[in-house]
Amino acid sequence: MTDDDTPPPKQKSHGRISVQTSLKPRDLMSDVRVAGAWRAKVITLFPDAFPGILGLSLTGKALDLGLWALETLDLRQFGIGKHKNVDDTPAGGGAGMVLRADVVAAALDAAAEGTPNRSEWPVIYLSPRGKPFDQAMARRFSAAKGITLLCGRFEGVDERVLHHYGVEEVSLGDFVLTGGEIAATALLDATVRLIPRVLGNQTSTEEESFSDGLLEFPQFTKPSRWNELEIPEVLQSGHHGNISNWRQAMAERLTKERRPDLWRAYCASHGRDPVED
Ligand code: SAH
Repeated sequence: MTDDDTPPPKQKSHGRISVQTSLKPRDLMSDVRVAGAWRAKVITLFPDAFPGILGLSLTGKALDLGLWALETLDLRQFGIGKHKNVDDTPAGGGAGMVLRADVVAAALDAAAEGTPNRSEWPVIYLSPRGKPFDQAMARRFSAAKGITLLCGRFEGVDERVLHHYGVEEVSLGDFVLTGGEIAATALLDATVRLIPRVLGNQTSTEEESFSDGLLEFPQFTKPSRWNELEIPEVLQSGHHGNISNWRQAMAERLTKERRPDLWRAYCASHGRDPVED
């Protein structure tokens, strides 16, 4: 076979950078186009799941512009032996398989290359046993230099590797997914949109749900009359003070009705009585 017959290497687009699937993490990092940008490293058995939906819309555009960078580490490449085994049966018996400590450790070591210390670079295992993910966490992650995300599969990961590396466990909610990839995607979406310039209109993150501990007020748009339903008059009044008061009152009412937990926390931090108010 001549050089000309060689099939082109499989290309994968990670935003603006087009890399070969075999590209080492280091090669990506030295790419000047992403120098200084917020970076995510995702350890997964399914690198093809990324960037997925993160490659579309605002997060996708930001990826293209190099406002953040995404790199996957294929856990399989750190597997043991000819078959690149990554898992084995649970000690003590029971159903399913567990990801091996030595395999996950090798992937975490590779991901750690070229990253600053933990205070600037959280290392997270997506897990139903973790601390529930919330907006405050998204803010903390977006303020870091980047993040390493470990996606589990099967029954999860050998406990020893989580302890040894001091990995933080984060949950998407009280339900069980088949793998960590969807949870990692959700975490990245919520985090990346807080990076400056990713959203066109920065003020939209200041007003939305959770930013002040309240759920967002109801939104309306044209037509002003739909199905015999009118848009609340105050919103069409052009009176900014009244509009702002109405929105605040609605946000408080919704939060009180739907999320008593958030309402109690909001009242505590604003010196208000959750029952009276
Ligand atoms: N046996 C485990 C569940 C494993 S589910 C248990 O009962 O706790 C397989 C993988 O999916 C996990 O390793 C984790 O990475 C991911 N996962 C499942 N549910 C999740 C959730 N609610 N949040 C984040 N990750 C989750």
